[in-house]
Amino acid sequence: MPAKLIDGKSLAAMVRAEQKDAIESLAARGVRPGLAAVLVGDDPASRVYVRNKARACNETGVRSEVHEFPEQVSESALLECVARLNADPRVHGILVQLPLPRQLDAARVLAAVSPEKDVDGFHAANLGALLQGRPGFVPGTPAGVMRLLEHAGVPLAGRQAVIVGRSTIVGKPLALLLLQKDATVTICHSKTADLAAVTRQADILVAAVGSAKLIGADMVKAGACVVDVGINRLADGTLAGDVDFAAVKETAGWITPVPGGVGPMTVAMLIVNTVRAAELSIGKPLV
Ligand code: NAD
Repeated sequence: MPAKLIDGKSLAAMVRAEQKDAIESLAARGVRPGLAAVLVGDDPASRVYVRNKARACNETGVRSEVHEFPEQVSESALLECVARLNADPRVHGILVQLPLPRQLDAARVLAAVSPEKDVDGFHAANLGALLQGRPGFVPGTPAGVMRLLEHAGVPLAGRQAVIVGRSTIVGKPLALLLLQKDATVTICHSKTADLAAVTRQADILVAAVGSAKLIGADMVKAGACVVDVGINRLADGTLAGDVDFAAVKETAGWITPVPGGVGPMTVAMLIVNTVRAAELSIGKPLV
C-alpha cells in the first residue's frame, strides 16, 4: 500500500497561523517581532533560503531585514554587524546564513550571536540546553521534523529511529529530540558500515545527507515513516531529496516529499523561534 504523504507545506502554513495570537499580544505591548538575516557572498541557494525566510516573515507579521556582505568580507566586519544586531532592540532574532566563505571562522561568528537572539539554535548555549533538556532555542530543521512526526501521529516511544547524517544543524539535535520522546536512536554517517542493514531496522528513518536518492526502497522497512531532509539540485534543475521518493513511497507507511516536506517547516519554526525571542525580550521565559 502506498505511504501516507506528510504535507509539510500545509502544516507550515498552520504553524505560522498559530503565531497570530502571540504576535497580536506583542503588538499590544508595542513590540513587533524582528528577524535580521546576515548573508555573505553570492551562493545562489543561500540567497533563495534568505529570500524565502524574509517572505515568510512578511506574510506572518514579523519584521525582517537582511544584511548583505561581499564574499571577501573580513571577520571583524561581520562580528561588528552581529554586535550591532545584538544591541538593537528592534531585532529579536539573528540568523547567520550558512555556509560562510572559508576565510571566516563560522564557529566564532555563531558564538558572537547573543543566545537570547539565536533563533537558529546554533549557539553552544542553546545546543547545550537541548542536550541537558532545558528550555532554549532548538534549530528549525529538527524542530520541524518533530512537528511533522507529531502531526502525522507517528508513534515514537520505544521505536527504532535511524538518522542518516550527523551534522550539528540536523542529525545531532534531531537525535536528542527523538531521545526526549523515548525513541531508540541510531545515527549513521559516511563511515557507517552496511548502511542499508541499519536503515532497514528503522521504524522512523530520517535522511539528512545531501546525496540525491541515496535511500532506496531496499533500505526501508515496510510501514516505516521516512522523513527526507535532503535538498539536492539535479542536473535538469529540479530538486530531489535524499530518498528515492517514487520507489520508497510504495514501501513506507509515511513519507515526506521534497519539495514541500521538511523545507517549509524549517522556515515556520524559525518564525516560531523569532516570536518566542520577542516574547523573551519582554520577560516571558522560554519553555
Ligand atoms: P552536512 O554536509 O553537514 O552533513 C551530511 C552528513 O551526511 C554527514 O554527517 C555525513 O557523515 C553524512 N553522509 C555523507 N555521505 C554519506 C553516506 N554515503 N552515507 C551515510 N551518511 C553520509 O549536511 P547538513 O547540513 O546536515 O544537510 C544535509 C542535507 O539536508 C543537505 O541536502 C541540505 O541541503 C539539507 N538541509 C535541508 C534543510 C531543510 O530545511 N529541508 C535544512 C538543512 C539542511
